[in-house]
Amino acid sequence: QAAVAFEDVHFAYRADRPILRGISFSVPAGKTVALVGPSGAGKSTISRLLFRFYEPQSGRIRIDGQDIAQTQQKSLRSAIGMVPQDTVLFNDTIGYNIRYGRWDATEAEIREAARLAQIDSFIESLPEGYDTQVGERGLKLSGGEKQRVAIARTILKSPPILILDEATSALDSFTEKEIQDALDRVSRDRTTLVIAHRLSTVVGADEIIVLDKGEIVERGTHMDLLESG
Ligand code: ADP
Ligand code: ADP
Repeated sequence: QAAVAFEDVHFAYRADRPILRGISFSVPAGKTVALVGPSGAGKSTISRLLFRFYEPQSGRIRIDGQDIAQTQQKSLRSAIGMVPQDTVLFNDTIGYNIRYGRWDATEAEIREAARLAQIDSFIESLPEGYDTQVGERGLKLSGGEKQRVAIARTILKSPPILILDEATSALDSFTEKEIQDALDRVSRDRTTLVIAHRLSTVVGADEIIVLDKGEIVERGTHMDLLESG
């Protein structure tokens, strides 16, 4: 049974402008499906519908077979973890930022999540810019480092379904490689929907779905898509 399924979903923010035009796909439990396409294709809209921030005009969205129209937004939020492209951190230590939402986590669990995301060296530090009094504990985090804090938080939360939004990450290629490695570790053996701009970042996905103007224009493995040009 599919962990996530879209069945002929039509959606428009405004009645006169259709955004998703009959989207059907599914993500089998434990597998990774990537949504790839140009900016404006409708990729982020798909993740917003999954959280029920909006309701589709027609069609159905299921999680583990259950129609999410019957599911509370609160329980969707605990079932789905999202690593967004832009992470806003709280004015507290990196460790606090990782623990956020999982207050029962042990010190060892926090350290392990930080290690997997490769931010264990500054777990006690504060992100700079919030407090001029922090002195030497203050730290200026790059966009990539902030994203890794979000990855660590998600590892700790350990949701059954993951959404990784790497669409417009403005990261240099070195950071991108590190982020990619961290994301690969989180998504392994977990139901994952990756949102991406470029085919090159989703080589390992079990299926790649190419969206354009709210429609699926191609689908297959990375190899299939390369062969079809
Ligand atoms: P992608 O993630 O592929 O870049 P989006 O799902 O963000 O695409 O957007 C798809 C289309 O929906 C775009 O044309 C965008 O302008 C439009 N759109 C996104 N959010 C809203 C909104 N809140 N209200 C109206 N239109 C929106
Ligand atoms: P919490 O449940 O801890 O209050 P939020 O309400 O900020 O957290 O968000 C719940 C989940 O929804 C998080 O995984 C977050 O990344 C995701 N989320 C929040 N806003 C958006 C959005 N506009 N589009 C997609 N996902 C979002």
